[in-house]
Amino acid sequence: MKKNIILMGPPGAGKGTAAKQLQTAFNLVHISTGDMFREAMKEGTELGKLAKTFIEKGDLVPDDVTIGIVRERLSKPDCANGYLLDGFPRTLVQAEALEKLSKEIGRPIDTVINLDCNQEELIRRISGRRVCKVCGTPYHVVTMKPKVEGVCDHCGGPLYQRPDDNEEALKVRLHHYVESTKPLLDYYEKLGLLKNFNSLVGATTLFDEISQYLKA
Ligand code: AMP
Repeated sequence: MKKNIILMGPPGAGKGTAAKQLQTAFNLVHISTGDMFREAMKEGTELGKLAKTFIEKGDLVPDDVTIGIVRERLSKPDCANGYLLDGFPRTLVQAEALEKLSKEIGRPIDTVINLDCNQEELIRRISGRRVCKVCGTPYHVVTMKPKVEGVCDHCGGPLYQRPDDNEEALKVRLHHYVESTKPLLDYYEKLGLLKNFNSLVGATTLFDEISQYLKA
């Protein structure tokens, strides 16, 4: 079973949804750098204040800060059973740091799952996305509605629209994805770790396909 996993793909490809399903099914620790930054912003910590200035515009938080929080989280004992990195790495500097760090702590990456999706669908998904303020579970106003409008099925928390899910910030985020993150697919292909999935099949089928692959 592959248990140390990176989930990659552009914003809106379905990383968050797949991560929540896989976390529950395989008892993995879900590490989302975006969620960690949003949590810090909510708490108003120094990290949160710094991250806010980048996230609001759709820009990337500096590598040293981002690598620092992942290093700390990945080293915790609960990650020994397996981890699911969602939204990290996003740059080559982060990928190289992770390669080194994951080996140092004896938790090397088993596989990199890339979710493919066309740009039109990404924009449709992001513009209708709603997220639970408490647990981060993503929903969609048309295709992935909660049982009760505005309320998270899992924890009862309120749903909201992320401030960076607007047209302007999304353009910047897609630009950073193409320039800085997409090239990492080649990096992981060369390491023999990359596995591609088409996320247009829908969340349930995608989850089944990924599960089969992880168990094989
Ligand atoms: P996400 O929830 O993964 O879409 O991340 C939301 C925002 O957090 C991104 O648009 C970035 O501003 C910031 N962020 C999350 N992960 C990273 C990362 N690995 N490197 C730099 N910035 C990040």
